[in-house]
Amino acid sequence: MDAKPDITPETFESALQARADAMAEACTRCGKCVEVCPTIEAAGLSLEQRQNPVDVIDGIIDILHHGEGNEAARKWADGCLLSGECIKACDYGVNPRFLLYMARIQMAQTKHDAATMRRGGVEAFRLVARDSNHIARLQLDDALLERLGQGVRPSPSPATPEPPDFVFYTGCNVLKTPHIALLALDIMDALEIRYDVMGGPTHCCGIVPMRLGDVATSGRVAENTIDKLSQSKTGQVVSWCPSCQVQFTETTLPTIEKTRGAKPFEMTPFTLFIRKRLDRLRPLLRQLVPLRIALHRHPGIAGVVEAAEDILRAVPGVKIVDLQQPAVGLQSNNLRMLPAYRRELQERELAAAEAAGIDALVAVYHSDHRELCAHERDWPFRIMNMYEIVGLSMGLHRDDHFKRLKIMQDVDAILADCRDLIEQHGLNPETTRLAVQAMLDEQPAPLRGTTAPSPACGRGPG
Ligand code: SF4
Ligand code: SF4
Repeated sequence: MDAKPDITPETFESALQARADAMAEACTRCGKCVEVCPTIEAAGLSLEQRQNPVDVIDGIIDILHHGEGNEAARKWADGCLLSGECIKACDYGVNPRFLLYMARIQMAQTKHDAATMRRGGVEAFRLVARDSNHIARLQLDDALLERLGQGVRPSPSPATPEPPDFVFYTGCNVLKTPHIALLALDIMDALEIRYDVMGGPTHCCGIVPMRLGDVATSGRVAENTIDKLSQSKTGQVVSWCPSCQVQFTETTLPTIEKTRGAKPFEMTPFTLFIRKRLDRLRPLLRQLVPLRIALHRHPGIAGVVEAAEDILRAVPGVKIVDLQQPAVGLQSNNLRMLPAYRRELQERELAAAEAAGIDALVAVYHSDHRELCAHERDWPFRIMNMYEIVGLSMGLHRDDHFKRLKIMQDVDAILADCRDLIEQHGLNPETTRLAVQAMLDEQPAPLRGTTAPSPACGRGPG
């Protein structure tokens, strides 16, 4: 009998490594991605280092080959805010943002052993789950939790086993600002879109362990979630969170495609999904919303800023003012590794908004809303999410309890305000207190009359 060929099945880890190796191989080291990166200076590279882009990318490739790289490359990898300008600049089909992510993972793996990385991942995930579960429950009753796929009981089997047209994937952290996610669902209902909602910590994208270097756990978690999300009739998942979007589309899905031979589904950001349906939305935008607004912009996912502007321009009465501020990063939360830079950007934007005399500073993403909303207390304009404005025109409204609570700036007052829901959900008072404190601590630009926040406030995927 012939000996069986020795074929080792591809694991998530080996497939990810193979993708990183192939991309590093395809890189010509032209240095263009370094030249266009908008945050390379804020990441701390000296003028001399910035003037040698080829050295910087050389260092990244060396890290990917398990070397130490060089100081400039390590700073660049650490300071990457996922703006994505580098992806547009590369003429060779390489995704430099993915290369930098893989370099960061490699750097984390050289600092810690496997057990430490696993423990760190578990601990970080526990905090993300604690905060999103508790902050959501301070605002929602059981029925609304159920609506966001966070029911206490498993949903009963549907009478018709027909799969939905789409799965709407919330991720974890939008649950802290549930009015945004609920409005997204209300808008899809009005457009007669058939969907199932999935998300929360039980449907983790795996970004937390991966960031800490634990690729094996990240792969297991993500595969589990991907199997749950692979249920739509159209093979389409609509994502809310930009961090989940980048993690799935640039890291996890292509890697699983390599191990399984097929991509489980396509993933589309919610705002691009709605932009595609703008002709169906337009007749539903009936009410005048006379607001001069400015858009808080992050360019990390190509086309989202433009799509958001198109949607907002379709709302009768809305006038968009350009504050001429820099747009960097994937969302506010992704700027946390450069706290002074993030604070400066936000303070300059608030001042520009006041000078322009706008009625509202409007964000697309949930982490932007979390970080900015309490400033409404101190500035002469509102802080809103774009789907609140779309909702106003459609006659849809959801109360923004998150902003109301955050503006209180007092843990005891917030706990007293939410006493009924804390009892209803049987929340542990001490854990709830910790989650509320973490909510108040996430304040990159301090409110007027308060002290500066801790430098790296705002943890977790988004
Ligand atoms: S990733 Fe692309 S842009 Fe960057 S150095 Fe390599 S080939 Fe050039
Ligand atoms: S994603 Fe952004 S911050 Fe990261 S390397 Fe590319 S351009 Fe620079």
